Amino acid sequence: MEKLKARLKTILIKAFAKYCVGCDGRCCRSVVVTLFDQERDSLLAIKRDICTCNERGSISDMDISNGCPFLRKDGCSLENGQRPFDCVTFPCYPIVGRYGDLVAILVHNSCPRADDIAHDRELMGVVRSFWVIALEEDIEPEDLARWKGEGESDPWNKYFTGWKVSVSC
Ligand code: SF4
Ligand code: SF4
Repeated sequence: MEKLKARLKTILIKAFAKYCVGCDGRCCRSVVVTLFDQERDSLLAIKRDICTCNERGSISDMDISNGCPFLRKDGCSLENGQRPFDCVTFPCYPIVGRYGDLVAILVHNSCPRADDIAHDRELMGVVRSFWVIALEEDIEPEDLARWKGEGESDPWNKYFTGWKVSVSC
């Protein structure tokens, strides 16, 4: 399953590339990357001085307000499989139903290509597959809620004001 997820991450990165190529990579220089604990540990093993903040249980945020420490001139220096979920699916985030099912994907308006991405059915299909597998294999609902800042005093909405597009699954 790890191999499948790494493969899906590669497919996602390639599928987003046509939108990201004309962008200045602003999502690698925005505010934070939100990490699950395994992601945080594997990034700390690569670079010990990354700054994690807002720790909430198994979730934390990596400060990228001055640019991500893994960002190089030619893009992200991490292997595709090492990149956090928040990076590979940005600007798309899952909405999960009460039975743990994926009911929609939200596309965030901080990405200048949010509309185009939301209307790319092929890309959204890969995003959906990625999250279905991740939710089945990896992620507890309460961790996902914390990752998204739901019910916290410090939700993503502190950083971002509203979602632009919702795509039903
Ligand atoms: S902000 Fe959007 S278009 Fe720009 S690099 Fe990030 S995902 Fe790609
Ligand atoms: S880990 Fe890579 S993709 Fe994620 S913000 Fe940093 S440079 Fe960008």
